[in-house]
Amino acid sequence: MIGAATAYYLCKEGAEVMIVEAEDLASGASGACDGFISLQTKQLGSHLDLARESAQLFPAIAEDLEVDIEYNRCGGLMLARNAEQLKEIRARAKKLKAAGLQVEVLTPSDLKERLPDVSKDIKGASYCEDDAQVNPYKLTLGMAQKAQEMGVTILKGCKVENIVVTNNRVREVNTTAGSIHSRRVICAAGTGSNQIGKMIIVDIPIMPQRGQILVTEARERLLDAIVSGAEYLGTKANIAGLMPADEEASKLGLGFTAEQTASGNILLGSTREFAGFDDGTTPEAINAIAKNAIGFLPWIKDLDVIRSFAGLRPYSPDGLPILGTVKGVKGFFMATGHAGDGICLAAITGRLISELVLDGETSMDIEPFSLYRFK
Ligand SMILES: Cc1cc2nc3c(=O)[nH]c(=O)nc-3n(C[C@H](O)[C@H](O)[C@H](O)COP(=O)(O)OP(=O)(O)OC[C@H]3O[C@@H](n4cnc5c(N)ncnc54)[C@H](O)[C@@H]3O)c2cc1C
Repeated sequence: MIGAATAYYLCKEGAEVMIVEAEDLASGASGACDGFISLQTKQLGSHLDLARESAQLFPAIAEDLEVDIEYNRCGGLMLARNAEQLKEIRARAKKLKAAGLQVEVLTPSDLKERLPDVSKDIKGASYCEDDAQVNPYKLTLGMAQKAQEMGVTILKGCKVENIVVTNNRVREVNTTAGSIHSRRVICAAGTGSNQIGKMIIVDIPIMPQRGQILVTEARERLLDAIVSGAEYLGTKANIAGLMPADEEASKLGLGFTAEQTASGNILLGSTREFAGFDDGTTPEAINAIAKNAIGFLPWIKDLDVIRSFAGLRPYSPDGLPILGTVKGVKGFFMATGHAGDGICLAAITGRLISELVLDGETSMDIEPFSLYRFK
């Protein structure tokens, strides 16, 4: 996703670009995820600013691409299961509102209007009308295809094995299909970014964070918004008051998400686990996701689950992206570490990295996402 979005924006400025992909387009996290463009779940400050800028780019992208990316500004709900969660959600909504986001807190009876068959146990929710959804797979393929039409070469099944640096400047990329001369290289390798960093002797601290998802049969429209539970935010942003209460859920990093795709299937999520590069699903997580989902939306129990999958989020130590240059290696750029937000942040990442590569500066401050914040 991040590589395709960056290539797309670079090409719009007339750059000559090559995408080097070890497997296939969307074979990584971008083909194994949800499509939330969720603003209310972002950390206040520069993370939220980035997400809002990105969200604003999606309508134009949807217009521009030949592929229908199923962009839908459907709004987003975050559900509270108890009074403590509601208190936390209310406090957060106040801060988000002060930052200019359209967020309102709903009582259980207000909520019934937006989500009629929600569990009686839900104590309230926050609603953000700017939250949206997109088909991540189609977005990745659509951006890559458009970039290709503008002249990008896409090398699939071609793994980067080494990057040659001489006199503190990137000169060449060695791949399984031969060498490519280039004075500029962008690392958008998701969970492969740490390996890429080693090639230029820089530690890019990205580790895989697994997320598992269930897919139900396709049905008539049952959900008009993207929906999450407060624990989803807790596990994502490490908020003590919103962590899952039971031990098993806590071990899995379980947080409820649900979205109905344009084809009618409902995606139910998800987990946040550190299981190395194992991208398999597990019976424990599948059971826990299903049980948890029914706790929020009891009618889910009547749907057939047709599939499950897992993806590996590129996770940095603070869960925020790593964007920018590295010291001492000219021509090397990083666009990685988007963790659970890479679809939402793809558009703005592509645009900012294109600006950085071509102009040496960006229209938004990316210093908060510098690699050197960890040092
Ligand atoms: C369960 C789950 C749910 C999610 N839900 C959402 C959501 O609702 N909204 C949202 O915004 N985000 C979501 N995400 C996060 C999102 O999927 C990721 O942030 C995003 O896909 C990362 O994109 P990427 O391009 O950086 O990485 P990837 O999609 O993993 O792409 C990296 C690519 O680099 C290639 N590569 C790696 N090493 C090399 C090498 N040496 N040479 C050549 N190629 C290489 C890989 O083959 C891969 O194709 C979710 C993730 C998961 C797992």
